[in-house]
Amino acid sequence: MSNYFTENPDLLTTFDRVVRWDEIVPRSEGKDADVAETVSTWREVLSVAGEYIGSEVAKRARQVDELGVIRENGTVSLSEPLQANIKGLADLGLIGLSFPKEHGGSGLPFTVTAFVIEMLARACASTMIQNGIAYTAPAAMIFRDGTDEQKERYLPALARGDLSGAVAMTEPEAGSDVGNISTTATERDGCWFIDGRKQFISAGNGDFVIVLARTTAGSKGLEGLSLFIADRWVEGEPPRHGSIGVAPMHGSPGVAPMRGASGVTPMRESAATMRENYKVERAEHKFTIRGSPTCSLVFEGTRAEPLGEIGQGWRGITRFMNESRIGVGIQGLGIAQAALAAAQDYAARRVQMDRPIREHPMIAEMLMEMETTVAGLRALIVEAAALQDAVTHGGDESTAWRLRELTPLVKWYGSEEAVHTCRRALQIFGGYGVVTEYDVERHMRDALITPIYEGTSQIQSLMAVRDLMRSLLRKPQSLLSGGPSATLARAKFDGQGGRDFAAARSSLLWTLRGLTGGLARKGGVGLLRGGRQPSDEELQPFMLNAERITETLAHIHVARALGEQARRVPERRPLFERAARRAKLVAQRNTKEIGAGDGGVFERIADYERDRTQRKSRQ
Ligand SMILES: Cc1cc2nc3c(=O)[nH]c(=O)nc-3n(C[C@H](O)[C@H](O)[C@H](O)COP(=O)(O)OP(=O)(O)OC[C@H]3O[C@@H](n4cnc5c(N)ncnc54)[C@H](O)[C@@H]3O)c2cc1C
Repeated sequence: MSNYFTENPDLLTTFDRVVRWDEIVPRSEGKDADVAETVSTWREVLSVAGEYIGSEVAKRARQVDELGVIRENGTVSLSEPLQANIKGLADLGLIGLSFPKEHGGSGLPFTVTAFVIEMLARACASTMIQNGIAYTAPAAMIFRDGTDEQKERYLPALARGDLSGAVAMTEPEAGSDVGNISTTATERDGCWFIDGRKQFISAGNGDFVIVLARTTAGSKGLEGLSLFIADRWVEGEPPRHGSIGVAPMHGSPGVAPMRGASGVTPMRESAATMRENYKVERAEHKFTIRGSPTCSLVFEGTRAEPLGEIGQGWRGITRFMNESRIGVGIQGLGIAQAALAAAQDYAARRVQMDRPIREHPMIAEMLMEMETTVAGLRALIVEAAALQDAVTHGGDESTAWRLRELTPLVKWYGSEEAVHTCRRALQIFGGYGVVTEYDVERHMRDALITPIYEGTSQIQSLMAVRDLMRSLLRKPQSLLSGGPSATLARAKFDGQGGRDFAAARSSLLWTLRGLTGGLARKGGVGLLRGGRQPSDEELQPFMLNAERITETLAHIHVARALGEQARRVPERRPLFERAARRAKLVAQRNTKEIGAGDGGVFERIADYERDRTQRKSRQ
């Protein structure tokens, strides 16, 4: 039994002394709001959430993992303990925390709800993803782009946990390459019908799904895409010849919306008249976030209604993905926090060679590294969450750009470093680490999903480096001063931490100068004057090293964020010093690796391409 908020000193310090509530409260609650009173109410909410999550949700986590997804009589549903978690969250009003007040929620800013997401992920990563994907994400999308009628129909029911949704982009042939989707939506007689297949859809067994589909025949890539809401159960007979004869959707005049129990596949209210509008073909068997149903969905003449403007699907899904990427970073933080707490406790109790293992230097160092990672990731996330709130409330272009810069780094660092932290925790547990009675093996398994979904680590790296390139090509002279990132260029700290930070940044700049010089030698200096965009081939050295550059960038930003916190909270200085030292070492390692050349990888790619062409010509 523990309260995940009040009993976590770093979380409390972050809430009480780091977050700039004086900026966040007026934006969220209006200029006249009493900051101290509002913050005290939010603190109380987090304390209640921390108590419930740290006791009830944490207690059921092992069972959620053991039971996995329930598959019975061709249906897919949540296990009982996961249902109990969702019901408990709904009863406490925690599901609707971020939903607008006028639609049944509490209207809390992301900066506050991020604490709840972290605590949920610490207790049970499956519950966290169910809460995020089945309720929060669809609600945010419907609130942003839905009609008044759609908001009224879905949001209050989602906030109560009476309805659950999902968001479906991925298809068997379109994973990282979302622009390759082939699911179509066609309009006939004023109604829309979806045909296609979606893969790996979290919470896809719920009451409705938001689907990304192609609405412009023959369109390719990110053009001609639209978003739709498809309810799982509709009235009427199965469609013959596509969609003819389908009765109106829920919420259409005269049809009551379905009510599914929290997160559970809803039963037909009236077996004679309700039919499945799309098929939940199966839920994958997997070793990570085992309680979360990851479903394959089949759409055949599925009746759906547009969410937002036709043709604007890419814009809508991009906003969803960017928010979810920060969400996955927070999931990584929660899991890493769980692994750290378990390892700290174990290393203090386990005695080998006459002393607790934490007194052996290698273990002590691992614990310190884990501690720095968790505090650093939290610092980055708090900053991203505040930027997200500012953007939601009409922040300017530079705020939006700073958020865009941090988002792939939060996702990359939150995922990769969560995996690394869990790996260290497992090692600290020795043989007991692989035994299922101890939770670290679950944390390890759960952490492994984070570098994969919502855009893999490689895709985050490509995003981060493409933006960096854009800034570089716009202002190549920045390489002679602080570099293309204005946030990093401005940052300055004193002492050893400040020197290490500056060394890390210089090392990154050295690398960027080398790569940019290579680009200019290949493509001419005109490239650097914005004469034309570099070709894919010219960009290859950047793409090869995208993850190394991203790793360096992420570590430098983590050090910067902790350094800025240390100005307000002097006790954070040692964390900053350690993060800056690590950023320097990571940057220098990556500079060395990048400088060592491509190691023959481009020759190998040329071989693969030749092989592919030959195979094709033989067919
Ligand atoms: C448990 C789970 C839950 C999920 N939930 C959802 C959901 O709710 N909704 C949804 O729509 N999707 C969901 N997904 C799908 C998820 O987002 C995709 O799996 C992910 O985007 C990767 O796509 P893929 O699996 O097809 O891998 P691929 O895209 O085939 O990638 C395979 C490998 O190639 C790499 N790669 C691909 N392109 C490049 C490139 N250009 N450069 C370098 N490397 C590259 C990738 O990084 C990866 O390592 C979920 C997946 C899982 C496993």
